[in-house]
Amino acid sequence: MRASHIWHTLQEGNRRYSSGLSPEWAAGGSEPPHRPLAVVVACSDARVPAEAVFDQPPGSLFVVRVAGHVLEPAALASVRFAVEILRAEAVVVLGHTACGAVRAALSTDPVRGLEAIVEPIRHRLERAGGSETLDERSAVETNVRQTAREVISHLDEVLSPDLARPEVRPAVCDVATGVVEWIE
Ligand SMILES: [Zn+2]
Repeated sequence: MRASHIWHTLQEGNRRYSSGLSPEWAAGGSEPPHRPLAVVVACSDARVPAEAVFDQPPGSLFVVRVAGHVLEPAALASVRFAVEILRAEAVVVLGHTACGAVRAALSTDPVRGLEAIVEPIRHRLERAGGSETLDERSAVETNVRQTAREVISHLDEVLSPDLARPEVRPAVCDVATGVVEWIE
């Protein structure tokens, strides 16, 4: 697709989006409230759009997306902001099937420039017992579980002890069916 066609597609999409916003928001004037129901920490994969996966309108989800949901400092600070300031009470860590970042972490091929994504995922798999025996599905589940642990321990470290902790749940979205499975 040529770039000019891509821009046109995006502009048309925005026209539909902005004309469908709630009347209170579209009227302008006062600032729309920012009180998300939940934080979603997810992979950047285009097949897993968080708001669409959970069928939530604008304003409902505070979404932090990085390939492989690798939590660099700004991603962790974003989660903290949503919990501490916006008072979100739930955090979903949303991985998915056919994750290229997890595949790269499992592969023995050189990663060429993607170390910032692949190495943290390899460390997560190692912390959980090593990647040698893991099939791809198990690695995806391990990656979401470990990410959830990282979120919980970061929030424990930075939040005031008297602030209620959000519930943090890992989940995996099947990119073919769209079904989300909650991981224990
Ligand atoms: Zn992915």
